[in-house]
Amino acid sequence: MTRPAISSPAALQCRICGQQYPVEPLTICEECFGPLEPSYDLQSLDGEVFRKHVEEGPASLWRYEALLPGGPGIERVDMGAGFTPLRRADRLADALGLERLWIKDDSVNPSNSFKDRVVSVATTMARAFGFQAISCASTGNLANATAAHAARIGMPCYVFIPEDLERAKVLATLAYGAKVVAVKGNYDDVNRLCSEVAEALPWAFINVNMRPYYAEGSKSLGFEVAEQLGWRLPDHVVVPIASGALLTKIHRAFSELIAIGAVEEKPYRVSGAQPEGCRPVAQAFKDGAETVQPVKPDTIARSLAIGNPADGMFAMQVSRQTGGAIEWCTEPEIVEGVRLLASTEGVFTETAGGVTVANLKRLVLQGVIAPREETVAFITGNGYKTVAALEGATEPTYNVAPDLDEFLAAIGL
Ligand SMILES: *Cc1c(COP(=O)(O)O)cnc(C)c1O
Ligand SMILES: [Zn+2]
Repeated sequence: MTRPAISSPAALQCRICGQQYPVEPLTICEECFGPLEPSYDLQSLDGEVFRKHVEEGPASLWRYEALLPGGPGIERVDMGAGFTPLRRADRLADALGLERLWIKDDSVNPSNSFKDRVVSVATTMARAFGFQAISCASTGNLANATAAHAARIGMPCYVFIPEDLERAKVLATLAYGAKVVAVKGNYDDVNRLCSEVAEALPWAFINVNMRPYYAEGSKSLGFEVAEQLGWRLPDHVVVPIASGALLTKIHRAFSELIAIGAVEEKPYRVSGAQPEGCRPVAQAFKDGAETVQPVKPDTIARSLAIGNPADGMFAMQVSRQTGGAIEWCTEPEIVEGVRLLASTEGVFTETAGGVTVANLKRLVLQGVIAPREETVAFITGNGYKTVAALEGATEPTYNVAPDLDEFLAAIGL
């Protein structure tokens, strides 16, 4: 079967002033210092042709190649990231008082978080641009995904992390063969160091000098939800926020699908979720502020611990424009959220997923999400990476000797 030719993206475009640039390793507009992002010739795409192309494509995020970076002649890095289950969550819906709820379960990606999507796209472009090494500044999941993809294509990999990251994330990164640079400081310190290293060395930093391509990979989550709902959009989505790129790009994906006629136009609302210990975007939203004030993160949701979020302002604009809200939950609510999702739906998520579920619950209680709204909650990471967060919160239900009578007595029989 021949698939129609795709030429994407047409250019990089400034998100502030619209100035266009060639598809190169550029990140910042020379005119206004605004961030750049890929732009596509949407006029040339037909919704029906797009849907057919997608449905004939691989079972990974690359099925959406028409609206992702990496055109003809570029060899893709494809470990099978994406095309994860959209699970109908009736038991969780009942617990929360919703009628139609879905869980987008990205905990089952190759390195067990949604970061495999963004890294698939960024490593594809990094290799095409001729970089000699792959690198990143990470809150943990990006470290795993970058190291896994670098191993897959046999490229040297240097991962920069805050020194006090969860053990599981550090050990897995090392197992993938990456060099791990543990930095004395928080993620924002790590990020600053990486910007300097990226100036000094010819390395592709997935989320620094490759950022326009990295962020674009998040759109695949939006495309997938629409496809899995039978090419239509939900009423409300709840998205965890670290840098804010994921939330912004889900909105972007929905609006591109509407623009090319791949789904029917309808209103949808985008809400964001942050933990109390790192809530710069949620606070700015609540205050009605125009800009996001940086904070020093202190939260068990380490993968969301970005105090100075690059896309925070854009995420806030999306929630305001679409009529959503950006909420935060307390630290104990994170653990409750992890347990609620696991015990109602059998999906064990990491602390970031706990943040999503806890905020979903709050948004329903506050009436921001109406019971009738068809809602999708994005579960972005796997609980086995952050088991320490449950330490002390749960214990074996019974402790017994290997003795039948003692066991029966313990369960009260
Ligand atoms: C990185 C990450 C996010 C948030 O991504 P941003 O695009 O930076 O907002 C959410 N969940 C998990 C598990 C992550 O690792
Ligand atoms: Zn500009």
